[in-house]
Amino acid sequence: MKLILLGPPGAGKGTQAAKIAERYSLAHISTGDMLRAEIASETPLGLRAKALIDEGELVPDEIIIGMVRNRISQDDCVNGFLLDGFPRTIPQAEQLLTFSEIDRAVLISVPDELIIDRMQKRRVCPSCKRTYSVDPDAASSFSCEDCGTELIIRDDDKPETVAHRLAVYAEQTFPLVEFFRERGLLTEVDGSGSVDGVAESIFAELSAAEAPVEDALF
Ligand code: AMP
Repeated sequence: MKLILLGPPGAGKGTQAAKIAERYSLAHISTGDMLRAEIASETPLGLRAKALIDEGELVPDEIIIGMVRNRISQDDCVNGFLLDGFPRTIPQAEQLLTFSEIDRAVLISVPDELIIDRMQKRRVCPSCKRTYSVDPDAASSFSCEDCGTELIIRDDDKPETVAHRLAVYAEQTFPLVEFFRERGLLTEVDGSGSVDGVAESIFAELSAAEAPVEDALF
């Protein structure tokens, strides 16, 4: 199965992507994680990407498209993959469809108020990358349950950057909803519930989409 996960920043794409990838044995491809790995290794691409990411801007299409094209040609993608954070623009989607087929684009919809609330609570472990939702009023610092490292706020989760990321999403990424709907590939799921509840809705939608027509009717 070849899937795309769409949704605004803070919709829970990363969390749901990990669950979907595990359930269907798909390679989980997060372009955000790939870029953060480039930044950590201080590659030329990483240095260029960091400035853009910290401002809440998108990395240029040609860089991202090349990265994804290369990644999905690797062996672990033969049985399918899940794209998390790609495509984010119409040109990225158009290019993607020239070098891969796609079975479904799953949109996780979440209202703006909830996104802002979630992003204020998001903390990540800089060491093992586990993501947490914390109550900022409860304590001023939090530690990773797995490795004990102090959790941090991602630079691009700072309030001023979040507002800009939401504007970039509305302008450049949201048009993809119509793009995939027109091609009969869109599945929409309400992302405002619990992590497990949202995952169950996604699994149900994916099995319904996969079922033969007779099963779907009777
Ligand atoms: P994410 O972890 O998916 O929220 O991505 C973090 C940041 O990486 C985004 O805000 C963008 O700056 C950059 N990025 C990730 N994926 C893409 C993409 N497909 N196109 C352009 N920029 C991207």
